[in-house]
Amino acid sequence: MEQFDMHLYHCSECNVTFGVEDSEDVDHGEIVCTICITDENLLDVGSGSFTLTHLPETE
Ligand SMILES: [Zn+2]
Repeated sequence: MEQFDMHLYHCSECNVTFGVEDSEDVDHGEIVCTICITDENLLDVGSGSFTLTHLPETE
């Protein structure tokens, strides 16, 4: 089972929560909401391990 260390962010404007992989290649100061493309309403909601339990079905 694949596991990732993810950092979670919540956008209070769009009411979405999304995860960004915690890796040295990612500049977490540059994270913006994927919908409104701004960090103005972003809340840092913590980090943790993410385990893939479902994969998209491919035909
Ligand atoms: Zn947003």
